[in-house]
Amino acid sequence: MSTPEYDLVVIGAGPGGYVAAIRGAQLGMKVACVEKDAALGGTCLNVGCIPSKALLDSSERFEEATKHLAAHGVKVGDVALDLPTMLGRKDKIVKQLTGGIAHLFRKHKIEHVRGLGTLLGGGRVGVTGDGERRELAAKHILVATGSTPATLPGIGLDGDRIGTSTEALAYPEVPKHLVVIGAGVIGLELGSVWARLGAAVTILEYMPSLLPMMDAEVSKLASKLFPRQGLKFQFGAKVVGAEVRGEEVVVRYEDKGGAMQEVTGDRLLVAVGRKPNTEGLGAADVGLTLDRRGVIQVDAHYRTGVAGIYAIGDVIPGPMLAHKAEEEGIAAVEHMAGLSGHVNYDAIPNVIYTHPEIAAVGKTEEELKKAGIPYRAGSFPFVANGRAKAMAQTDGFVKILAHEQTDRILGVHAIGPRASDLIAEAAVAIEFSASAEDLARSVHAHPTLSEVVKEAALGVAGRTIHL
Ligand code: FAD
Ligand code: NAD
Repeated sequence: MSTPEYDLVVIGAGPGGYVAAIRGAQLGMKVACVEKDAALGGTCLNVGCIPSKALLDSSERFEEATKHLAAHGVKVGDVALDLPTMLGRKDKIVKQLTGGIAHLFRKHKIEHVRGLGTLLGGGRVGVTGDGERRELAAKHILVATGSTPATLPGIGLDGDRIGTSTEALAYPEVPKHLVVIGAGVIGLELGSVWARLGAAVTILEYMPSLLPMMDAEVSKLASKLFPRQGLKFQFGAKVVGAEVRGEEVVVRYEDKGGAMQEVTGDRLLVAVGRKPNTEGLGAADVGLTLDRRGVIQVDAHYRTGVAGIYAIGDVIPGPMLAHKAEEEGIAAVEHMAGLSGHVNYDAIPNVIYTHPEIAAVGKTEEELKKAGIPYRAGSFPFVANGRAKAMAQTDGFVKILAHEQTDRILGVHAIGPRASDLIAEAAVAIEFSASAEDLARSVHAHPTLSEVVKEAALGVAGRTIHL
């Protein structure tokens, strides 16, 4: 059988891989995308961004109905949780979206080759699936194999009582006591989901405080607000083991004073980061450089050291974010086509979908101080914004950091309602090298939450209006 030839073979159909495949097809390439799973969309669509946000939204509505509607003068009777319907709704959304990618592939004549992709060298990719092995030949190969949950020594995942985010997106009943290892993004988002639905949630975190990489004022406010929502934190906790005893899980950890402690729950969520996925890929065999964590090393154009092989997304260095993977995929494919795609890493927004949401783009004050960059800060609280008052969601603020001399925006940090949407304006401003005055002089609709961003920009020059 002859080996089919492609301009581009993408390995992995997550947001990095599928978007790159579509961009390749748009540029006239003959494209195949090798994906080992039946559903396209990778971690993000199947067990990541989308199902978690579906549950965050549903659980927020449940909490609204149980705790907040009365203040709006809306009386509801007994509110009951129908968990199977909530989970079913999430599954339906995932199915619709993954099916949507299959449709986009057909539309762009991208071949989905089902199976595990292996780099064979010499521009060839082996695919093992459905009991057979095939070979594909490609001018360009893009590795977009993403990541999988990291585990801890002493913690054996059993896919039931002790699991990762994948299990926590589908617990069959609300845990009585959910123990989470890791107060990172997954711990906070999925901890919030189950706390809202009635679980007691204890989060064990190795670091001494919450979200140390975020802006310090944002972390401080988050540390105040989240415990009020039923999230209990143990900082400085070094987990050393966990054991399932019947329907319980006993988790052992060393506390900040060095004493051994135990906490017992009925489910344990291990959320201690993710590791690059190069299993079965044959990356080292063909000469790709991996660091000791298995992260594939690339240059500024996503080229690995091996001619014709590129890599993007969670499997290369940088934040593990879907939109980062997508933009890298586009830039890599454009580079293959002789165009000049690039990603501005200073303008990648980062969002935590808790309540209130936390969002940031660019540098933090701590980073600017460390780098010796002079800056001015302006901030504005949601409590002074008319729309936030109308929504009864007044916790939080937006802070803008701009260069002291040039006024160029260097960082924007938000904690508050719809911070995830508000940060888009800030990312565009940074991408266009806008000054704080540019933002401050732009007309923002009234009454909207976006006026908080405008007022924070005015604050950089010490001239907020509504405070
Ligand atoms: P992936 O999405 O991991 O896709 C890689 C694909 O490659 C997979 O489909 C895998 O099956 C396939 N594959 C791997 N090896 C092979 C092989 N050898 N052959 C064939 N196929 C292979 N990010 C955000 O930006 N926003 C969020 O809100 C968000 N929420 C998240 C919530 C959770 C619970 C989790 C776990 C993650 C979340 N993320 C979020 C992170 C986001 O999912 C990842 O950053 C993103 O999916 C990375 O995209 P990728 O294309 O690099 O890899
Ligand atoms: P994370 O890196 O965000 O957080 C892991 C946390 O676990 C850290 O706070 C770390 O200090 C702690 N930790 C590590 N080892 C520990 C130990 N032995 N004991 C106690 N605590 C320990 O990782 P995550 O929450 O697992 O998320 C994985 C990735 O998925 C993130 O990198 C993130 O980019 C991505 N993600 C993004 C979103 C989003 O964009 N909203 C949502 C979910 C996941």
